[in-house]
Amino acid sequence: MQAMQTKRIYLDNAATTPLCDAAAKAMAPYMESGAQAPFGNANSLHSIGREAFSVLEDARARVARALKAHRPDEIIFTGGATESDNSAIVGMALGARERARLAGKHGPFKVVTSRIEHEAVLETSHMLRALGFEFELVDNDGLGRVTPEALKRVVDENTLVVSVMAANNEVGTIEPVAELCSVAHAAGALFHVDAVQALGKIPVDLKGWGVDAASFSAHKVGGPKGVGVLYLAAKTPYVAYLPGGGQENGRRSGTQNVCGIAGAAAAIEFAVAEQPAYAARARAMRDDLYARLGAIKRVVPSVCVPCGSEEFLPNIVNVCVRGFESQTLILQLDMRGICISGGSACASGSLDPSHVLSALGVERNLAQGELRVSIGVENTQADIDAFFEAFKEAIA
Ligand code: PLP
Repeated sequence: MQAMQTKRIYLDNAATTPLCDAAAKAMAPYMESGAQAPFGNANSLHSIGREAFSVLEDARARVARALKAHRPDEIIFTGGATESDNSAIVGMALGARERARLAGKHGPFKVVTSRIEHEAVLETSHMLRALGFEFELVDNDGLGRVTPEALKRVVDENTLVVSVMAANNEVGTIEPVAELCSVAHAAGALFHVDAVQALGKIPVDLKGWGVDAASFSAHKVGGPKGVGVLYLAAKTPYVAYLPGGGQENGRRSGTQNVCGIAGAAAAIEFAVAEQPAYAARARAMRDDLYARLGAIKRVVPSVCVPCGSEEFLPNIVNVCVRGFESQTLILQLDMRGICISGGSACASGSLDPSHVLSALGVERNLAQGELRVSIGVENTQADIDAFFEAFKEAIA
């Protein structure tokens, strides 16, 4: 085995990303101690509070513009995308049920999502069932795509909310968001999209998609951890998931994290501005890596991503290595200075194959050798070359 390398190469950007310059700069003043630094509560009436409020509202307007929302007050700041996903689905289901009951309907009401969603969406099933909702999963086409036809077969007049992600965090499949949203709306249901992995990688256009709600996370695009965005279109039925002091227009209580929100807005703006150039660079690296890995006998791509394909995220390469367990390979690569993951970071402590690969029909033994390389804004072809050399040594 080689000696520990000093330079580490980070290729796990779908798990989280390093802080970008713009975010660090926006947050720096808040890291100072004492009353001369900005520290106010954005809900206080005095000048220190009003200064914080103006930073908060500036961030809201900039995020709304970057995500192409209709208006700034559709943007709610949260404690991360897990909170945004939970709040959107449960909050809209409760709001829509109230509306349906007032219209004389009695259910049983249903929430529909797909098998390849992040746990932050799938695990809402427990709370929804406890609240009396039915929960149904729609299948994918084997490549991770939820087709409008498949969704049509599952939604009915009792469906209140449909939630399908914009792009999958493990294998990178991009979903037809606008079409799926139209199917939900035609059935009278609300539509939520988890757009965490799409942001900064493909164009995000909330108005164009026509969705009622969307979730984003700052730390996936060079922002701080623990700051999320929930987009909630105006007039969407919604019961606040976090009741309390009534901040964020009564839709999410809790004193706002002005420092983190300032950093998140800067990161989101930067990610959206950089998206076309980054996507082109990453796509070339993705294609090169799939081609090189595909030439190794024991490596099986988890999905077939044609060269240049824009139907999959430009920054994700996902393969299974026959005869290996992900964790062994991740640690072998880590010893060689390469940081990657086996599927999603949330599941990386688990020996069970990922629910996403299971939903794609990948056989269990093979899925245990899943590896995900996710290319970030700062990665270069030299990082991909270094990964490939280390990978060949690790499996030798
Ligand atoms: N949704 C998707 C698709 C994700 O990839 C993640 C993060 O892994 C989340 C939601 C949760 O985001 P957060 O870490 O901000 O809670």
